[in-house]
Amino acid sequence: MIIVMKPGATKRQFAHVLARIKALGLKPMVSQGTERTIIGVIGPEDALRVQPLEVIPGVEKVMPVLKPYKLVSREFKPDDSIVDLGGGLKLGGKQLVVMAGPCSVENRAMLFETARAVKRGGAQVLRGGAFKPRSSPYAFQGLREEGLKLLRDAAKATGLRVVTELLDTRDVQLVARYADIVQIGARNMQNFELLKEVGQLRKPVLLKRGLSATITEFLLAAEYILSQGNFKVILCERGIRTFETQTRFTLDISAVPVIKKLSHLPVVIDPSHSGGSWEYVGPLANAGVAVGADGLIIEVHPNPETALSDGPQSLLPKTFVSVMRDARKVARAVGRTL
Ligand code: PEP
Ligand code: MN
Repeated sequence: MIIVMKPGATKRQFAHVLARIKALGLKPMVSQGTERTIIGVIGPEDALRVQPLEVIPGVEKVMPVLKPYKLVSREFKPDDSIVDLGGGLKLGGKQLVVMAGPCSVENRAMLFETARAVKRGGAQVLRGGAFKPRSSPYAFQGLREEGLKLLRDAAKATGLRVVTELLDTRDVQLVARYADIVQIGARNMQNFELLKEVGQLRKPVLLKRGLSATITEFLLAAEYILSQGNFKVILCERGIRTFETQTRFTLDISAVPVIKKLSHLPVVIDPSHSGGSWEYVGPLANAGVAVGADGLIIEVHPNPETALSDGPQSLLPKTFVSVMRDARKVARAVGRTL
């Protein structure tokens, strides 16, 4: 249920509505828009049917949200959300944000080399996994806290922000201590306990779409995080499983306009994991920018041949520079900057 306040509603009227909602045992979530204030009501809504809130002064209308997700919906928040990444960087506005770096943090030298290269190429955020979700238990699992420390050091040396994956509820505080943005990977998109935990944080969360998740399931996963009070969620389309085997996954480009219609949350595109080959990164990045994505997350490695994970899809630093140059032209064509 959402309660739309009149444009001229007073603070007292607003406080009264909040008090009434709480008195009914429901949880109010406030969305302060440019035009008006909207209150989302979370919890069993039957109480509201018995005690209508329309009659309270300052209330314009009370509407049910028919979609299964509420707080992520455009009905709840008509304006686009802009997520503050700290350090003066914001994601969701005219300026696109590029996150780039290796799939895994492997050692100090390669991380620093990559961080400097992606910074030169125009990225604002350094990516790199310290906890790796690998299909095989015998594959490299990540440097764990040592990797997080290296990311923080590389960020300090370059002025980049850091995004890194959190795999397990036991490591929430550890990862949050080092990361500016906490990544929830595709394989954990429906790890509901993990989603609730990052919902308790007040740090931005990059939520990747599950390998076989529908857009509704994706938005419901985001709803878990918002329902705990963390509204700083960035959605990431990273390709889904289809019958096609030429690419690692199929980049669902239509997810961007569909999500933009249904939700206020920003969306970034991952052209690396979707295509699965460095050759497709540029074209898919361009497509993402053209279709309205708010940012890109791209894998870059100084020597992809020796990469401990995802070498085939990693760009050489010099290729990253040319991919960025092309994507910048597309951004300009659609009225954005990159
Ligand atoms: C990654 O970003 O390195 C990663 C593991 O991505 P995904 O969860 O999309 O597979
Ligand atoms: Mn990877």
